[in-house]
Amino acid sequence: MYKTGEKPGKGWYRCLKCGKVIELNDDSDTLPPCPKCKGTEWTKI
Ligand SMILES: [Zn+2]
Repeated sequence: MYKTGEKPGKGWYRCLKCGKVIELNDDSDTLPPCPKCKGTEWTKI
């Protein structure tokens, strides 16, 4: 599990709260708050 503000690397992440999926395009990108529910916990998919 990853949290908003971490830099877990390139890939796809799913919000644990609402299921929203986002993509990080670069290893230096930080996980944002979920754009849908403002959740801060993500899992890599
Ligand atoms: Zn969400």
